[in-house]
Amino acid sequence: MANTAMKKTFLDKLKEKVNGWYRKNPALRPLYKAFVVVVLFFYHIVMHFAGNGKKYLCGIAVVAVFIANGSFTFYGNGEVIHAEAASNSDIALVTEKEVETADILPEEADPTAYGSGDYQVETTEDSFTLEDIWDEHATYLEQEDAVIPTDNSYNNLTFDKDDWRIILVNKQHPIPDDYEFELAVIKDWMMCDSRILENLLLMMKDASKDGYTLAINSPYRRMSDQVFLFDRKINKFMDLGMSYMDAYKTSAYSVTVPGASEHQLGLALDLVAAGHNVLSEAFGETGEGIWLRDNSYKYGFILRYPKGKEHITGIEYEPWHFRYVGVEAATIIYENDLCLEEFWEEYVY
Ligand SMILES: [Zn+2]
Repeated sequence: MANTAMKKTFLDKLKEKVNGWYRKNPALRPLYKAFVVVVLFFYHIVMHFAGNGKKYLCGIAVVAVFIANGSFTFYGNGEVIHAEAASNSDIALVTEKEVETADILPEEADPTAYGSGDYQVETTEDSFTLEDIWDEHATYLEQEDAVIPTDNSYNNLTFDKDDWRIILVNKQHPIPDDYEFELAVIKDWMMCDSRILENLLLMMKDASKDGYTLAINSPYRRMSDQVFLFDRKINKFMDLGMSYMDAYKTSAYSVTVPGASEHQLGLALDLVAAGHNVLSEAFGETGEGIWLRDNSYKYGFILRYPKGKEHITGIEYEPWHFRYVGVEAATIIYENDLCLEEFWEEYVY
């Protein structure tokens, strides 16, 4: 639904007012949900035992509750943002059309205005170094001749748009419904697409030979993980006083919208230096960050959200986020200073 300049009805004004309360007091939402359950419970009891007068009053109460319910599936100006997402605790599958609303960062919602450097810290989950995962993958890691072939004639290649390695997933291109792949366990709950595991291990092994200890943080994410991260980010911005709509758009700049994250493909990982589980721009200046930027392509990985390409990727500079695209594509992307979107323009048919 586009920005229709609707005349505000009494109901719209009521919705805005109630929305305001919800924005100021996020705790009202779970309380409200509990309230709905209680009201419905008593409604059934009254309908069983009470006389007509009380039934009538109870009916009015239930209608009032549902009007209040409507107030947080809609927000402001009669514009529907995302009926499911607006309930704020369960962002459901985001369709392509809805994703577009998150595409443009609103001028008034500059994320850097909310404490520079801090807003981009995405996660502090556990991470695993090569040492942590060595035993699981010893058979592969201990073989001597694991070397990825390199070639200098990649620039003449073209790529098939159906090649799984180069699949383009971003806010305009959500993951296709029929996308299928096999997961391999890196360690414990940590998984990735089985086809990229060997190259990942080899990259970590070679980094360690050069003296850099990489740690894997947050590889494959289920839809629910991505929803959790996105939801948490929205709440954080709303706590800073943003409206839901601005918080949604600003969040989409630093955490990928659920359904459009490469982590859900199993082809992307966040890499950090051992002992530093924080995802921040400063990682790009560490030895590990520099090594990855300059060497990851040899193993088929690219720095997916480079500095200076934010206007194309729609995502801030993320020196920790690496995406597998295969050695050929990665080499072209690295040598020609492209981002994946630009690569698609030139090389994919
Ligand atoms: Zn990432």
